Amino acid sequence: MIYPIIKFPDPVLMKPAEDVTVFDKELKQLVADMFESMYEAQGIGLAAPQINIAKRLCIIDLSFKKDPAQKIVLINPEIIENSGKQHEEEGCLSLPEIREKVNRAFQVKVRAQDVEGKWFEIEGTELLSRAFQHEIDHLNGILFIDHLSRLKRDLVLRRIRKMQKNGEW
Ligand SMILES: [Zn+2]
Repeated sequence: MIYPIIKFPDPVLMKPAEDVTVFDKELKQLVADMFESMYEAQGIGLAAPQINIAKRLCIIDLSFKKDPAQKIVLINPEIIENSGKQHEEEGCLSLPEIREKVNRAFQVKVRAQDVEGKWFEIEGTELLSRAFQHEIDHLNGILFIDHLSRLKRDLVLRRIRKMQKNGEW
């Protein structure tokens, strides 16, 4: 099933999500539906709050369907290590049309559970590191625009308000 993507400023995007505690068939179905919804929306990352499910679960596929080995499911993830810096452009399915450069760690190591509840660690640099940080932020109620300077963030909010007024949001 394809879920609609929740857009800013829906409150579900601004609050911390809850731990996943049950690893059952329903969870596997939810993960499958999240991939379907993400591909439909042309995304490479999606967090459960973006489909109105306030749970600590996110998915990433930088290959966009091309390489099944690149499908990543992170349940109850935590960043346990980070190093370096990068400053690259990001976008978000919940903030269509908005793209801004964001300060991120160059490398992160994440600890998470898989769909069976088994803990694992995964590391990423560059784009994968950005995706980890962006998606895990979603689980903490943080959006990429929250990392911008006050001035830039205000400009973005103004742009969104204008689009809302014109019925383009
Ligand atoms: Zn996002």
